[in-house]
Amino acid sequence: MRLFKTIAGLRSYLASCLQETDSAVTAQTRRSLGLVPTMGALHEGHLSLIRRARQENAVVTVSIFVNPLQFGPQEDFHKYPKTLAQDSELCEAAGVDVIFAPSAEELYGGRSGSRKDILTQVIPPRAMMAVLCGPHRPGHFEGVATVVAKLLNIVQPDRAYFGQKDAQQLAILRRVVADLNLPVELIACPTVREASGLALSSRNQYLSPEERSHAAALYRSLHRAEQAFHQGIRKSQELISIVKEELSTVAAMRPQYVELVHPETMVPLAEVEERGLVAIAAHLGNTRLIDNIVLSARKPIIAIDGPAGAGKSTVARRVAAELGLLYLDTGAMYRAVTWLVQQSGIEISDEAAIAELVSQSKIELVQHLEMQEPEAGDASLSLANPLTVLINGQDVTREIRTPAVTAQVSAIAAQGEVRRALVKQQKEYGRRGGVVMDGRDIGTQVFPDAELKIFLMASVQERARRRQLDLREQGQPEVSLETLERAIFERDQKDSSRKISPLRKADDAIELVTDDLTIEAVVEKIVCLYRDRLLSGA
Ligand code: AMP
Repeated sequence: MRLFKTIAGLRSYLASCLQETDSAVTAQTRRSLGLVPTMGALHEGHLSLIRRARQENAVVTVSIFVNPLQFGPQEDFHKYPKTLAQDSELCEAAGVDVIFAPSAEELYGGRSGSRKDILTQVIPPRAMMAVLCGPHRPGHFEGVATVVAKLLNIVQPDRAYFGQKDAQQLAILRRVVADLNLPVELIACPTVREASGLALSSRNQYLSPEERSHAAALYRSLHRAEQAFHQGIRKSQELISIVKEELSTVAAMRPQYVELVHPETMVPLAEVEERGLVAIAAHLGNTRLIDNIVLSARKPIIAIDGPAGAGKSTVARRVAAELGLLYLDTGAMYRAVTWLVQQSGIEISDEAAIAELVSQSKIELVQHLEMQEPEAGDASLSLANPLTVLINGQDVTREIRTPAVTAQVSAIAAQGEVRRALVKQQKEYGRRGGVVMDGRDIGTQVFPDAELKIFLMASVQERARRRQLDLREQGQPEVSLETLERAIFERDQKDSSRKISPLRKADDAIELVTDDLTIEAVVEKIVCLYRDRLLSGA
C-alpha cells in the first residue's frame, strides 16, 4: 500500500498502476479504479465501503481529508478525530492500494478559510439543501460538493462509494455528478450499526458511555416508524410523531429535526407513496448525531444471477409464472439492441456509434398477463402469453431469437454505454417491484436491495453436458465435452474479470448448485425461499 500527500504523487502512481502490463491498452481494458472518500477515524462503516470497492475494482484508493470547507465556524473541525496511523493499518489490512491524505494547503492553496470567497465552489441545487441538515449547517453541502468534485477530478475513479448513513449528502452528490456530467458511478452502501442499532460514526467517540446508550433511541425511533409504515401508516405527520414520541423517552436527547422527504429529490412529502426517507438530527450533550431510514412500499424483487448456462432464464421465467410476478427478461433487452445495431449496419466494434444509437432508443417489454380467475387477485396472474419485445415501437419478439443476434449479443452486452443505458431502463422497470430478473449483475448492480437474491451455479462439467444435449436436440454437429468445458471455463473467466459489471455473487445471495437438481426442483426451492423469507417476514 502507498500513501500520498500530493496530487502529483498520487496521479503519477495511479497512472502507472492502472495500465495493464499488456501492450494493447485501450480505454476499455484500463484497470478499474474505485475511490472511497472519507474524513478518516475509520470504523466498520468506512470499512464496509472499502470492502465493496475492493470486490469491484482492480485498484482501490481511500482519501482521508478533514475538509475545512464543510465545517461551520461553531462546528467541530479542530477537534475532529485524526488517527492516520491507525487508519493506515486498517486500510492495509482491508487490501487498499493507495491512501490519499492531502493537506488543506495542497487541495485549496490556502483559500479554504477566511479566503474562501476567492475559491471556485460547486453549489448543489438550493432546493435539495433547503431541508434536513441544510438549514442547520449553512455552507456544508457546498463544501462537500466542492471537495468531492475535486477528489473525483484528481483520482478519476470509475466508481466512488458513499454511505446511506449520510442520505442527504448521497442524494446531493448523485445530482451533482449527473448535472456536471462527471464520468463516475456512485455506489451507495447500507448503514453499518452497532448491536444497539446506533449507526457507526467517527463522532460516536465524543459520547460518554451514558450518552452512547441513550443514542440507541435514534434508530429505535426510526425502526418504530418503519413498523408503523408496514402496518399501513403512510402520512408524514403520523410517522414523524411516532419518531418524536420515541425520541422523547430520552430526556437528554435534543432533536434538531425529524423530517420525511423523497430519498432522491429531497422534496418534503405529505404522504409516502412509493419511497420516503425519514431523517433525524439530534444533540446528545455536545455531540450532534444523524440517522435515517428509507421506507419503501415497493413489492419484492427476486434477482437471479449466475454464470452462463446455469439455467437462469428458464428458472426465472417459471418462478415468475408460479408466483404471479413479472419476468423481466434482461437478455431480451440486450438482444433487441443487438438486432437494432445489425439493422442499422453499424460495425460491432464501433462502440461510439452504438453508444449514440442505444442512448436514443427505447426498449419496451410488454407482458400480457391474463387473469385465470378474475376474483382471485394478483396471485392468479399467469404468463399465458410470452413477453412482447419492442424497440423504438417496433415488435422484434421473434427477430431477436435468430442465430445472427445470438452470435453477437454478448459482445454488445459487454460495451459500457450499452450496459449503462439498459441498467437505467431495468431500474425503472423494477421501481415498483414485483419482478423476477435474471442476469449477471442484478443482485450486485441493478437491484442491490432486492429482497431475494439467488446465485444459480452448476459445475463446468454439468453445464457442458447440458449444452451438449441442447446442441444434439437442435440437430447441430456433435461437439466434444472437452471442447465445451474449455469454452465454458473461458467464458466464466471473461465474465468474472471484465471491467463492466463483472459476474460476482452478492454477499447476501443464496447459492443454489443445480448439478443434481431438475429445473422443477430448482423452481420449487426458490418459490419456497420466497414464501418463507418474504411472506412470513412481512
Ligand atoms: P466520513 O468519514 O464521515 O465523511 O464518511 C465517509 C463515508 O463513509 C461517507 O460516504 C459516509 O456516508 C460513510 N459512512 C460513515 N458512517 C457509516 C456507516 N455507519 N455505515 C455506512 N457508511 C458510513
